[in-house]
Amino acid sequence: MSATAANLPVLIQSAIHAIDSHAAELTELDRAIGDGDHVDNLIRGLQALSAISEELSQLDWQQALLKMGITVMSKVGGASGSLYGTLFMTMSKSLQNRALTTAVFAEIFHLGVESVKLRGKADKGEKTMLDVLIPVSEVLISHAAHPDLFDHIKQAAINGAEATRDMVATKGRASFLGERSRGHVDAGAKSSQVMICAVVDALKPNGGMQQGSRSC
Ligand code: ADP
Ligand code: MG
Repeated sequence: MSATAANLPVLIQSAIHAIDSHAAELTELDRAIGDGDHVDNLIRGLQALSAISEELSQLDWQQALLKMGITVMSKVGGASGSLYGTLFMTMSKSLQNRALTTAVFAEIFHLGVESVKLRGKADKGEKTMLDVLIPVSEVLISHAAHPDLFDHIKQAAINGAEATRDMVATKGRASFLGERSRGHVDAGAKSSQVMICAVVDALKPNGGMQQGSRSC
């Protein structure tokens, strides 16, 4: 990974494309057990990042992640805005002046996810985005040097999102439904999976974003 966040514009566009492609499905999920605004919230945040993506690409990763966190936090209402804002801001703080190697990324992502847990007072098994972020973080640490790291990340994200289907929500709006939240995949877990898969595909040496192609 280069010293500056040079590939951030491509990664942001990949995430936008992926959320656009899954918009109907994600909105349906948030309507079922939430309030239906999840895609609007994500797109608002991603468009805000897209608007500053050239500027972000000139920054080093610590500054870029900080600016991403502040932007998402301030532009996005809803639980997801403050949670993703927290993720990026903690990743920035944890990076310090180090180069962003895979092992360092695994470490700062782990610390970022820990701060999301604190911010949301939530953990694995509560039917939230954390059911994707935590297993992905674990795979990043355990498989950092593995040649098939990207495939393992995608599989962990897919499994994590699917696992929320049978869970009862105990955090966020879906928790108001209690037992009736069971049987639906959590929208925030699914969107995390979709964005992670898109970013991984864009990072793959010859797997750049292909128009019209669908990631996992
Ligand atoms: P809101 O719930 O405020 O309408 P969004 O629709 O943008 O916000 O995001 C909802 C998603 O946020 C949920 O599907 C869930 O994954 C995630 N979420 C909600 N509350 C929490 C929490 N306390 N901790 C972690 N994730 C949460
Ligand atoms: Mg919502």
